[in-house]
Amino acid sequence: MNDDLPRPATVDELAERSARLRARIDARGGKEVQILAVTKGHVVEAARNALDVGLTMLGENYAQELEAKAAELADSVVEPEWHFIGRLQRNKVRRIADVVTSWDSVDRSELLGEIAKRAPGARVLLQVNVSEEPGKGGCEPGELGRLLATAAEAHLQVDGLMTIGRTGDPEAARPGFRLLRRLCDDHGLAVCSMGMSDDLDVAVDEGSTLVRVGTALFGPRLRR
Ligand SMILES: *Cc1c(COP(=O)(O)O)cnc(C)c1O
Repeated sequence: MNDDLPRPATVDELAERSARLRARIDARGGKEVQILAVTKGHVVEAARNALDVGLTMLGENYAQELEAKAAELADSVVEPEWHFIGRLQRNKVRRIADVVTSWDSVDRSELLGEIAKRAPGARVLLQVNVSEEPGKGGCEPGELGRLLATAAEAHLQVDGLMTIGRTGDPEAARPGFRLLRRLCDDHGLAVCSMGMSDDLDVAVDEGSTLVRVGTALFGPRLRR
């Protein structure tokens, strides 16, 4: 046994962390906030355990990893709802189109076209870069109107918006989260996906409806 390799939290550990996470969100006034359990960088047991403790919305960043986990969990009693949250390459859409429930990181029109072709009517979130950090995924706030129009023309179902908070102190992410919330309101979009293990408290303050949590549930993962 190599102690350096991340070991997935056991069902009991995960149940406890999940309850603690729920209490942390509720304490911030987020009783309605949903939890997307991010299983990337963890073995399939992590996802299996998540389903066992009632975390059925699962997030993955890499097409191959999602495909492999989805195949292994195909026989599970509770069906996971897979969200793709990573940098999406156009040529990977087809391979995971059958298993993805929601495409949460769509930030350019060529992806909308490809998703519409491979998964007609699919649910998507548009990812917006509200952190003013170049190199982060997401369209510019000013591009959002055009992307929404393209999604509508492609007959995709845009449930809402997603963003990754500014790196560093969680408070540094607050203005960006506030902006994403405003963009959701301006466009009448219900889902506002923001907040991760380190900055979810601030995100919930600012009106997140969906937090994406990996480390706080499953522990550290291997870097790639
Ligand atoms: C990895 C990842 C997460 C989860 O991050 P943690 O800090 O482990 O909670 C959430 N959202 C996205 C887009 C990610 O890539």
